[in-house]
Amino acid sequence: MKDKKQKSYIDKALDLFRSKLGKIVRSEELAQLTGTSGKPISHNIRRIFELRDELGYNIVNHKDNDKTGLNLKVDEWVLLDKDPDPKKIRSRGVNKKIMFEVFSRDNFTCQTCGRTIEDDDPFKSGHKIKLHVGHKIAHKRKEGEATDKILTKDDFITMCNVCNEGAKNNDLISITLFDRVKDTDEQTQRNIYDFLKKKFI
Ligand SMILES: [Zn+2]
Repeated sequence: MKDKKQKSYIDKALDLFRSKLGKIVRSEELAQLTGTSGKPISHNIRRIFELRDELGYNIVNHKDNDKTGLNLKVDEWVLLDKDPDPKKIRSRGVNKKIMFEVFSRDNFTCQTCGRTIEDDDPFKSGHKIKLHVGHKIAHKRKEGEATDKILTKDDFITMCNVCNEGAKNNDLISITLFDRVKDTDEQTQRNIYDFLKKKFI
């Protein structure tokens, strides 16, 4: 039982980048790193983008030459700063300013279950928790409803990937269930009432 668990691909990639801070890491070196199974992983470059876009590591490639003044070629990557910068977390639907404000306000902690990025993902061994910005209200838009409301940090909460998946699957977060019952038509409310009465009385 002394076997040391294999580190995840993303941890190994980060170790490699940090050991070569400011120096070029080539895609082929990254491709040789293995995942928790001890085997190379597919789509490994996607993980590098995750390090950059989801965790905020300042990893640049040839597309950033204009900004960095470096002369990187395709398949060359450089980590410029040892530590991540949450401001560099790029948006996926939510702009990064809001994302950072939400994460900061919530102390980088999932507001549903209290997990942080330090915690292990319970469903993916060897993986750490990832944080997302989730809508407070289940984002069900009625058809035709205006969608130009300006969203602020108050519209979002920090959610881990586990809770985020759950919210998507259930379509609503539990605190909104009651609101939905209140909004529904009388007949549906009566059906729910009958159901609960049978169950509990
Ligand atoms: Zn959570």
